[in-house]
Amino acid sequence: MSLRRVAAFSVHTSPLAQPGRGDSGGMNVYVRSLVAGLARAGVQCDVFTRRDDPDIAEIVELEPGVRVVHIDAGPPSSIEKELLPPLLETFGDAVCAWIERHNGHYDVLHAHYWMSGVVAHRLKHEFGLPLVTTFHTLDFVKHAAGIDEELHGRAAAERSIIACADLMIASTRDEERDLIVGYDADPARIEIVPPGVDHSIFHSRHRDESKRRLGYVGHDVVLFAGRIQPLKGGELALRSFGELTRTNAKLLMVGDPSGPIGPEELERLRNLTVELGIERQVEFVGSVPHSELADYYRAADVCVVPSHSESFGLVALEASSCGTPVVAASVGGLRSIVDDGRTGFLVEGRSPTDFAACIDKILSDPAFGASLGAQGASRSQQFSWNSTAVRLRRAYGDLAAREPVQCR
Ligand code: UDP
Repeated sequence: MSLRRVAAFSVHTSPLAQPGRGDSGGMNVYVRSLVAGLARAGVQCDVFTRRDDPDIAEIVELEPGVRVVHIDAGPPSSIEKELLPPLLETFGDAVCAWIERHNGHYDVLHAHYWMSGVVAHRLKHEFGLPLVTTFHTLDFVKHAAGIDEELHGRAAAERSIIACADLMIASTRDEERDLIVGYDADPARIEIVPPGVDHSIFHSRHRDESKRRLGYVGHDVVLFAGRIQPLKGGELALRSFGELTRTNAKLLMVGDPSGPIGPEELERLRNLTVELGIERQVEFVGSVPHSELADYYRAADVCVVPSHSESFGLVALEASSCGTPVVAASVGGLRSIVDDGRTGFLVEGRSPTDFAACIDKILSDPAFGASLGAQGASRSQQFSWNSTAVRLRRAYGDLAAREPVQCR
């Protein structure tokens, strides 16, 4: 098959949205970077997303070969992800009508996240096209991590998408195992393709320059970056920081509240800083545009990633790419990014004392921190969006030789 066009689906959040805010995070970065990489590799991509702004054009050309198509379904404003499942049918109808109106021809449908999977699964049958999915997170994994914030019907929807997907993309072996153990996925239809990092943005430079630019000269800087929601473990970041005895240390919390309990979580974290007596050392910075985040990584002596679960963990990879040692929870994709003892530390369990000991080990020995950072930057070279896109293009192409999977 000569692969020319892919219809990608990112129903609940647009690749144009700023990550670190609302429902926008790693998936937005992933979709945007992947389609850009595919376009560079000769595959044109249309990304279908729900219109959440009445003034935005129906079609926005992101770059040559990549268009974002805004589909009307529900109010043309940002709404909580939790309100979207009843709109998926309308969204699917509108995409079908759009494709017919524009004589759209696609070779592959690629769905990101389960809600897009619901839509693309239906289109697979309507148009007779192969269905590729990347889930980004799975209901099964969130439950296993004790996070029960998800929507009614999600697990069943994931199960039926998995049973009919022609190809599932997992970022890591752990995610592959979750698909098999949690959903009985067919291993022959899973391909492991790690995400990348944009080295033109995330590369190392002199740490003091970034500290000076951001106003942290003379401080040990610990960075947490991510959407503020319980899954990301902001509480553990604060409690670990609270155990440090370094009075010149600062903890920067970058990111905005996300999801229905995001605002409450931010309030809880702010109160916790007072309870721990660290309110003067902790700064809630809010979300920072993706391209500006590099300066925060570079200014940081340590980046802490204490998530309960993480299918990959772009923040850890971006920090490493900037030459910053990472102290991360030993869960999910973080285990494939951090090389324990060489680029940072992987901490088993959720003890603030254990996290603090690793952070302190780095802060109290700058030469050691610098060597972890340098090894992290060098290891991050193995991840790039171009190679992710090239592997995906090959995987899409291989689908032509396979019998389409039928719904069980
Ligand atoms: N991010 C950002 N600005 C912020 C906070 C986060 O651009 O203020 C980006 C960050 O660079 C990363 C993504 O959001 O690319 C978060 O991805 P990750 O995989 O770490 O977490 P997810 O959001 O997928 O749970």
